[in-house]
Amino acid sequence: SNCVIDVKNLQTFFNTENGVVKAVNGVSFSIEKGKTLGIVGESGCGKSMTSMSLMNLVPRPKGFIAGGEINYFYEDGSKIDITEYDHDSEKMRKIRGNEMAMIFQEPMTSLNPVYTVGDQIIEAIKLHQNYKNKDELRERAVKMLKKVGISAPENRVDEYPHEFSGGMRQRAMIAMALSCNPRLLIADEPTTALDVTVEAQIINLMGELQKDMDMSIMFITHDLGVIGDIADEVMVMYTGKVVEKSDTKSLFSNPKHPYTRGLLNSRPVIGSKKRLEPIEGSVPDLLHLPEGCDFYDRCPKAMEICKNEDPPVFEVEDCKVKCWLYREEEKAS
Ligand code: SF4
Ligand code: MG
Repeated sequence: SNCVIDVKNLQTFFNTENGVVKAVNGVSFSIEKGKTLGIVGESGCGKSMTSMSLMNLVPRPKGFIAGGEINYFYEDGSKIDITEYDHDSEKMRKIRGNEMAMIFQEPMTSLNPVYTVGDQIIEAIKLHQNYKNKDELRERAVKMLKKVGISAPENRVDEYPHEFSGGMRQRAMIAMALSCNPRLLIADEPTTALDVTVEAQIINLMGELQKDMDMSIMFITHDLGVIGDIADEVMVMYTGKVVEKSDTKSLFSNPKHPYTRGLLNSRPVIGSKKRLEPIEGSVPDLLHLPEGCDFYDRCPKAMEICKNEDPPVFEVEDCKVKCWLYREEEKAS
């Protein structure tokens, strides 16, 4: 197959004083080479823990992978199940260094304020590539900055992170992440701290770099609006579970799960005067999930059955949707 990552029934749990929190509870997906999967949901829905699991960086000792598989496929087609390796193992370090890279929301926390941006990119390059000569390394760092669209990179390379704007810092982060030529880039809310114009620029940049490097991307966001242009497929998560999975076009034109519809209606559309309708209520406490559907309390379409029975996943028109509303439609199709 053309898969880069294939996740099956992933369960990532946390031990707390009050019990076991099932942060990721039976999530399955795969991403093909050169494709982008968007993962969407409010905070606390399990999207960040899904990405931490892929990197084998679930916070220890409380967090642990309780079940499932995370199959990573190398370029030559061989695979490993990441869940079978210690986070600290040689194998995992090699995967994080050479196969997968991650970028986050706030580059200020990942960039070290006391070193120049250039030195930090050089350190990243040194970890993965065989450049030894100082001038060569510097030249390489300048090239990376240029690649991510920073103008006058030969001057900028000697500046400190605080001398960069938020958008430029995020570009520098991307440059560092790409220095290992990753086959999978995990982007966890990479544009959330940026204004909409810069956000659009960064997403365009990621799309261009993706084509250029034939890289797969897992793009995590709470804002459905930002992934419309970059994602091939979208997975909507709620309380650690996948509630809808669909190709991007049908998700936007025909959202099925009431939660997905709520996310779309609460999204500001530039130039539109339509009143926003935030989803009422909040994500339930993972330690005290309701007996039936986890979205029951907030759902405008809730029915009697939803109160007591957790819906299974139904397949409707090539989409997967975890909601009782589609019980009949699946039978019909
Ligand atoms: Fe709403 Fe029922 Fe569907 Fe849950 S199963 S999302 S409560 S309609
Ligand atoms: Mg998060």
